[in-house]
Amino acid sequence: MLAERLPGILPDLDVDSAIEAAALRSLRGLPVGAELDLRPPFQAPHHTASAVALIGGGSGMVQPGALSLASHGVLFLDEAPEFPRTVLDSLRQPLESGRITIHRARMSATFPASAQLVLAANPCPCGNAGAADLECRCTPMQQRRYLARLNGPLLDRVDLQLRVEKAGIATVRMQADGVVGSRSTAEVADAVRLARARAAARLAPLGCGRNADLSGGALRRPELRPAPGATESVDRALARGQISMRGYTRIQRVAWSLADLEGVARPTADHIAEALYYRVRTAAGGQ
Ligand SMILES: [Zn+2]
Repeated sequence: MLAERLPGILPDLDVDSAIEAAALRSLRGLPVGAELDLRPPFQAPHHTASAVALIGGGSGMVQPGALSLASHGVLFLDEAPEFPRTVLDSLRQPLESGRITIHRARMSATFPASAQLVLAANPCPCGNAGAADLECRCTPMQQRRYLARLNGPLLDRVDLQLRVEKAGIATVRMQADGVVGSRSTAEVADAVRLARARAAARLAPLGCGRNADLSGGALRRPELRPAPGATESVDRALARGQISMRGYTRIQRVAWSLADLEGVARPTADHIAEALYYRVRTAAGGQ
């Protein structure tokens, strides 16, 4: 449900991105409306979909896959451990570079691939592990093997990793009654729009618009340094080998986004610690 709400809180696409999204749909033979659609795309391919449908390819004309159709929007892989390992592996490089090149015997084609990737996974094959009122019949080995399909280099590229408990009926009732606080999609969308605008104003002199576009080098520039002493927690995690250098860079980008959401001039130690928490929580053993 959260993944499906995500496009709703993203700002409208700029005209160039919207034209690109429409062109990709058209290449794939999908309907394109008479008016330019400015809403970010959402793609949620099933784990039984072919590698061509997901990544792109085809025997005749090389066609874009769901990964490219989700560009500037969201690519959601539900039950991610069920996807073939080769498909998950082939997402890594495009997620890093924002583009994917598909080689065929007589031609190759490069498509955009700058989607926001959302993965969802059960804690075990039966889905009941950790739930208070349900019994899990999976062995510890089965649980480990299941989550191990997502471990390593792919998870290193996932910035926010959250363990979500099964919502009990009491929680659902409290949400319906407004007892448990929740913000509407429109309210969150406003906050995201403001945060994006702050980032865009700050990053315009560097020639990029989003925190996600910042390179490690750009993040070392004096004007993008976090508050003094703010990086102590993440420096320690790097020294201990808990995070990679790539992870270090990605934590700083997330911390900038957290600061932008709060309207703070630069990330504090709290923002950095929160970004670190999202990253190492599940990577360190899935707990
Ligand atoms: Zn289980």
